[in-house]
Amino acid sequence: MRASDTLPAWAGALRLGLRSAADLLLPPQCMLCSTEVDAPGRLCAACWPRLRFVAEPCCPTCGTPYAIPVPAGLVCGACLQEAPAYGRARAAFVYADGGRDLVLRFKRGDRTDLAPGLARLMHAAGRALLADCDLILPVPLHRGRLWRRRYNQSALLATALGRLAGRPVRLDLLERRRATPSLGRHGRIERRRILSGAIGISAAGRGDVRGRRILLVDDVLTSGATASACCRVLLRAGAAGVDVLTLARVVRAEQGTI
Ligand SMILES: [Zn+2]
Ligand SMILES: [Zn+2]
Repeated sequence: MRASDTLPAWAGALRLGLRSAADLLLPPQCMLCSTEVDAPGRLCAACWPRLRFVAEPCCPTCGTPYAIPVPAGLVCGACLQEAPAYGRARAAFVYADGGRDLVLRFKRGDRTDLAPGLARLMHAAGRALLADCDLILPVPLHRGRLWRRRYNQSALLATALGRLAGRPVRLDLLERRRATPSLGRHGRIERRRILSGAIGISAAGRGDVRGRRILLVDDVLTSGATASACCRVLLRAGAAGVDVLTLARVVRAEQGTI
């Protein structure tokens, strides 16, 4: 995927262009509603509590927040049962309520202008991961889906995050070799089978992975299957380590209670 692949088609570009022009004329609005705020990419006082930010205590590996106080460094049951392919995963907020609305606005509502504000939230949540990485990569989107959606939301987040953190971003290193169905209703083993061979390193990226500490960026961490598939590919190619930073993460009812 080239950097230009993340740009929308002309119709989208026109709409976004008009929005950008309007943004210059209108006072900045909250990322979730139309309330006026101090600067672009901010949330208003009423919307801020609608987001459940991920904070300590959380699993040091997968970043699942615990509902009760636990000793520092306590690894969750799921990670003890099977260690994820990645080193650490962190997210800015839980994918529920206002967090879900915000992700859907960005992802399905053509609100690409939200990327810098959202990246700022990720930057705060992933400070330790960003400090340790020397390359940021977005989870790739298959060409067919990219054509329909017109932009890769993970690439927009990765680009904005790289700018904030002063770290290089490569949009063309990982590639989605075939489209995969939604993984939601499949079990762990089936998800791994579906993703097998679906993600690889592009010809342009070969040789650029060995010894690098990589931060993989995505919009939502659900089962972690896609992030893990990317991690396995990168580790096989000699990456020194791979962490994962997402905007939001799904927390199931049985999680977060240890
Ligand atoms: Zn608001
Ligand atoms: Zn965990």
